[in-house]
Formats: sequence, structure tokens, C-alpha cells
Amino acid sequence: MKNRISVLASDDFLGRAPSTEGEEKTISYLAEQFKQIGLKPANKDSYFQGMSLMKLTADASMKLDISGGESNISLKFSDDFIGGTPQISELVQINNSDIVFVGYGINSPENRWNDYDGLDVKGKTVLLLVNDPGYATSDTNLFNGKAMTIYGRWTYKFDEAARQGASAAIIIHETGAAAYPWAVVQNSWSGSQFYLVDNDLSRSNLQLQSWVTTESAQKIFESAGLDYNQIITSAAKRGFKPVNMNLKASIQFKNQVEYTKSNNVAAVWPGTGQSDEYIIYTAHWDHFGVNPAFKGDSILNGAVDNATGTAALIEIAEAFTKLPENQNRSILFLAVTCEEQGLLGSKFYAENPLFPLNKTVAVINMDALNISGKTKDMTIIGFGNSKLDDYAVAVLNKYKRYANPDPTPEKGSYFRSDHFSFAKKGVPSLYLSKGIDDVEHGEKWALAESEKWVMANYHKPTDNYEPDKWNFNGMIEDIKVYFEVGYNLSIIREFPDWNAGSPFKSIRDQMMNKNANRKTVF
Ligand SMILES: [Zn+2]
Repeated sequence: MKNRISVLASDDFLGRAPSTEGEEKTISYLAEQFKQIGLKPANKDSYFQGMSLMKLTADASMKLDISGGESNISLKFSDDFIGGTPQISELVQINNSDIVFVGYGINSPENRWNDYDGLDVKGKTVLLLVNDPGYATSDTNLFNGKAMTIYGRWTYKFDEAARQGASAAIIIHETGAAAYPWAVVQNSWSGSQFYLVDNDLSRSNLQLQSWVTTESAQKIFESAGLDYNQIITSAAKRGFKPVNMNLKASIQFKNQVEYTKSNNVAAVWPGTGQSDEYIIYTAHWDHFGVNPAFKGDSILNGAVDNATGTAALIEIAEAFTKLPENQNRSILFLAVTCEEQGLLGSKFYAENPLFPLNKTVAVINMDALNISGKTKDMTIIGFGNSKLDDYAVAVLNKYKRYANPDPTPEKGSYFRSDHFSFAKKGVPSLYLSKGIDDVEHGEKWALAESEKWVMANYHKPTDNYEPDKWNFNGMIEDIKVYFEVGYNLSIIREFPDWNAGSPFKSIRDQMMNKNANRKTVF
């Protein structure tokens, strides 16, 4: 582990940014490692699954103008709003588009909730809230209470607005509901955005994807003569009706379009029984590369995030090759690209699988492993979604450890790493993450330690490999659990399913030819 992490996180690998020299070094290293330990290439005779990407850079001098109300409002990029387009278009122009406030902008049959019911938003601009009514009300009978559902994620909001035919979607930022401050929105939407070339979004009608600050939203409501607090409160209640704001949105900006490529790395350890059935281990190999905006050390090495998970992928592959007897089902080791750009590598795989998804039993994802020591527990992000939880619990119990549900489900972590790309396509996916109950120092200490690390190092040049400071004992125990969960799934006959009530279940049912009585909405 130490050797492999030190290679992946070295300055020589330049922070492993997609489509750079750092990518070339990283993917050759991974392919070489898989080959050395005896794994077969998964893409015919190649270890690589290439994909075309487009890099879109919106001109940040844009302004978003709101007219038709008591006063005209001109919002400034970054300070008041951010915006961009997912379209392959050199110029975006929206003139006087009607603004409709659509509450949470959710259409969810299983929650009997449709903010777009009877509404035609074609060509219009929808203004909406982040998260979901369950979060807003803490009502456990609404959505999933405080825990964020898929309908609370901004990605879903833009997708749904596009499906409804809107021209523009503007999400109102609120720190608690989004789970991060405005600075995170600013950072992630400034500069270039990557998209898959034949991604649905590039064909969508949405010309503008935007976020506004709470303050900007309040101004917009005020200008329309509407009470902001009253309306957002009513948006979280059953029976909410969209509000035509009698305002118009206008924006114009240049958009630079470039094409580029990146690669997933995929290797197989074949099974000897049902070898056409697969367990997939995923870990994203990419990170942010070199960013000259950071003075001094400008290489974002991503040692924890995610040289640890990527190194574990090779370790686990190697462990499988050393079994006295091969497992029944085949194992696919998938190091995906562009996780940091919006889970694009895993999304590409799930849309263009090398092996059929209805023969894919489960996905086990590893992202940022434990560096602070042994824990009694491991966290199951998205606990309760699928029967895969039982397999994780069984292995943990065998080692006298236990499973903890996500301590902060309102952050929607289940929707923020690569297993989610598979879940959206119906494949049961387990996101097992480091524990919080430290054997030596207890839970408070571990949570504080983790928080301290996030503040100091997350997505910064200081996420370095520091073998003298890291404690590897917990990481090694966790990797054994990842291995055994995958192994146990590889020797059974059944396909563990999503639990009833999971939004992904009907997609799996359709794929497995079970009775499913509705089309998926994702
Ligand atoms: Zn990561």
C-alpha cells in the first residue's frame, strides 16, 4: 500500500489531472500494475476505456438581468450568481424569459410529489430550491426526513428542468440545504467544466444552469412583490402550486468549446463458475492536477483523495489472484476518471458498460481511506438502500466491528461518488467508508480529526502523502473488509436487490425483467 500510494501521490504524477501528462503516467502505471499481478484487460485486449469529453468555459464577465418587477436587478458573476451552459454552443443568449418559481423542482412518483404538475415551462426560466421538502420540514413522512434524497441534489434539479423543457434553471443556494457554503459553488463553477460528449445534457434544452445566492433570491422575490420566506415555506408543503413571478430573465455570454479525451482503467480477474456475472470495485484515479493559483506548492497530489482508494484497488486485485481457489463470479477492477469533474468516468462506464449491467451483481466503491488509525466501525453511506448492507455488516461483525449509518445524511454523500453513477442505472452499489469510532481515542476525537483534515487539506495542495504522520492500521483493516465483502458476493448465486422504497429499485426490476410498473425518471 505504502509503495503504491507514494507512486500515485508523487509530484511526478502531477496531481493526476484528466487529459494531461499526469493522466498518461497514472493510467500506464495502473495498467502495468494490473498486468503484473496477472489480471486480464477488460476492454477486449486493452486495459483502457477511452471517452470523449468536452471542456466548456463560460465567459465570467456575464451578468444575469431580472426585469419586469418593481426594480431591475443586475446580478454579478461569482458575487451574486454563477452560471454556465451544458450545451455545445459558442454563444448563449436568453432574452426576456418568463420566470416561474417551481418550489423544489421535483417530480417523484414514489413520493407522490410533482412540482411541475400541469405546468408548461417550455422556453421559460425555472427558479427553485436546493434539497427536498423532507429536509426543510424535518417531517419523516415527507421524502426521507432530514436525510437528503436524490431529488434534493442539484444535478437532479438541472436534469429534471431540462426534461420539462425549460430554457434556464436557477437554483437558490442556502448553506444548510446545499451542505456547503457559497464559496464551494463559486470554486466549482468558475473556470472550465467537463462534460461527456454524448451525455444527455448536451442535447438538453437547458441553455443556462445557474445558482444564485440567498440574498440575490430575496431581491428577486422582493422585486416581484412576493414574500420570500412565506413562499419557500409553502414550497415544502403538499399541495404547493408553482408561482408565476411576472419577471423576465436575460443573459448573454460567450462559451469556449474544446474537445479532449480521458480514460478509465479496467482489468478483470475471471471467475470459474458464473464467470459472466461481475462484481465491480471502483476507485477514481483522477484528482485536480496543478493549479498555479496556489502559491508555492501548486500540485494537488490527492494522496488521501484518492491515491488511497486507487492503491487499495490494486491490493484487492492482488489478493484475489492469491486465493487458493478462484471465486465463481468474475471481478472487474475499475479505476475511473473525472470523478472530480462530476463522476464522468463512472457515468461513462454505466452508460457504456463493458459487461451487461443485468449481469453486474454489485458495485463496491472506495474513495479516500482512513489515515487516522483503527476504528471499531465502518460507515455505510446510504445505509438502508440495498441488501448489500447485510454483506458489509456480516464481514464487519466477523471482525468484531460494526456498521454505522452515515452521521450526516443531510449532506447527500451517497450521491457524491462513483457508485452513484451505477445506482442511477439500477446496479446495487455499496459506498462503505471509513469509520468514526476510533479504537484508541473514541468517536469525538475521530470526528474532530476528520473535520480538521477536511478544513486543512480537502482539495488542496496539502493533501500529500505523509507516511510518518499517517496511521495505516485502520486502512488495512478496512481493505480486508472491502475484499471479503466482494469475495462473499462472488461465491453466491443470488443478486442482492435494492430495498423496497429505494428510488433505484424499479430500474433494477426492469433490467432483471421483474414486474415494474413505471418508467424510471432519472
Ligand atoms: Zn474522491
